[in-house]
Amino acid sequence: MKKSLKVERSDVLRSCGFDSLTAGPSLPHGRDLSFAPADRQAAGPHDGAQFQTFRPSDFQTFRPLTMDARSILHLDLDTFFVSVERVRDSRLNGRPVIIGGSSDRGVVSSCSYEARSFGVSSAMPMKMARAMCPEAVFIRGDMEMYTKYSRMVTDIIADKAPLYEKASVDEHYIDLTGMERFHGCAGWSHELRDTIIRETGLPISIGLSVNKTVSKIAAGEAKPNGEREVAQQQVLPFLDPLSIRKIPMIGQKTYHTLRSMGISTIHTLRVIPAEMLGSLMGQNGMEIWKKANGIDNTPVISYSEQKSISTEHTFDRDTTDTVMLNQMIVSMTEKLAYELRRQEKLASCLTVRIRYSDFDTHTLQQRVPYTAFDHVLISEAQSLFRRLWQRRMLIRLIGVKVSGLVRGVQQLNMFEDTPEMVSLYMTMDRLRGRFGRHAIRRAAGVMTAAERSERELRKASELLAEKSRMEERLRGWRY
Ligand SMILES: [Mg+2]
Repeated sequence: MKKSLKVERSDVLRSCGFDSLTAGPSLPHGRDLSFAPADRQAAGPHDGAQFQTFRPSDFQTFRPLTMDARSILHLDLDTFFVSVERVRDSRLNGRPVIIGGSSDRGVVSSCSYEARSFGVSSAMPMKMARAMCPEAVFIRGDMEMYTKYSRMVTDIIADKAPLYEKASVDEHYIDLTGMERFHGCAGWSHELRDTIIRETGLPISIGLSVNKTVSKIAAGEAKPNGEREVAQQQVLPFLDPLSIRKIPMIGQKTYHTLRSMGISTIHTLRVIPAEMLGSLMGQNGMEIWKKANGIDNTPVISYSEQKSISTEHTFDRDTTDTVMLNQMIVSMTEKLAYELRRQEKLASCLTVRIRYSDFDTHTLQQRVPYTAFDHVLISEAQSLFRRLWQRRMLIRLIGVKVSGLVRGVQQLNMFEDTPEMVSLYMTMDRLRGRFGRHAIRRAAGVMTAAERSERELRKASELLAEKSRMEERLRGWRY
């Protein structure tokens, strides 16, 4: 069966702002993105890595026709959770560290480079990680603390950057387009990275290039704790020799499909006719082809404009029915948490709104550790509602909103929750996906005070046991 997808390669190129496949001597607009020696000098000497610059080459295939080149910086904290643990306890420096669920059924959330050299990687079952690297220090993880450090980094960036996007707990993008006329982007980026390292103690890698995809790949290549600049004319020579795995949107499945076709480097991928990838993988194939060619027009979306998800309910009849109001808060928050998980997002802020029958409206908001879990959001929403509803007057409307969203899967929280809890969520989401959003709902306030305190106690004793295990490991460590 033949798919009726017909896209001319020239159409794709034109739509992306490129006029032909022929080599061009230089950028028609704007200026060369590499910096004058004076700019480099101004950045000053530094003990860390410097920007590595490719020599100009004649590899360039495409040239922008209508777009001025952009300057996009990607900042990515190295082994973020592990680095936070190391800031808090320097004895972990230089040692294999694995963060993840404490039971054998948990998975690895983050691991240090030392652990990686044993073959350990993220999302691997903890049991396998223990077998591969028994001498590692295993830590359960603390999302609240990681959220705090994540915000510290965001605050530094917000203070200095003209336009930034927080993409995940440990990744930011900054649009520096236009800045090169006044300061060197590379020098500025270097200073910012220095400030972050100095003020937080966390290692961070940066990539500076013409769009988000290339910057992200460049930051990846700069790791650990390095800097990499890829100017317009260096984009293709930089990408060509890399594995297709380095393209952010290529997951395990796509990787294996492409490998089975004999494609392993980005160069091989990008010289395949776009329409062939398109007919093979649909829109996804076209997107992959564009990325392999260093094309990505997606904008940096400022953090304040990043979407929130909200829902509200107006009662047919104004009410003071506590049980019903509470149930409504629970089911609304549940709906939002489900939506977060469906979109693979985590929220860091929760807002509850009530409107009294006299239209007097009150809002309260609360920062929360990054999460997409019902039980975290629901208890926060309930406590916000209790604080809000002081007047005990008839309520006309209630609303719940989650904001401060970043990309991320709930894997982040797996170390905090039992695998049973996670599989419960997955089952609930599957049911909702099949039978609709209202197919399944929790009974409001199922946990009694006794159950809650029992859980807290259990948590505390687990933490203590974990701490003593860690102390033991640290004592046993030999240089
Ligand atoms: Mg990272």
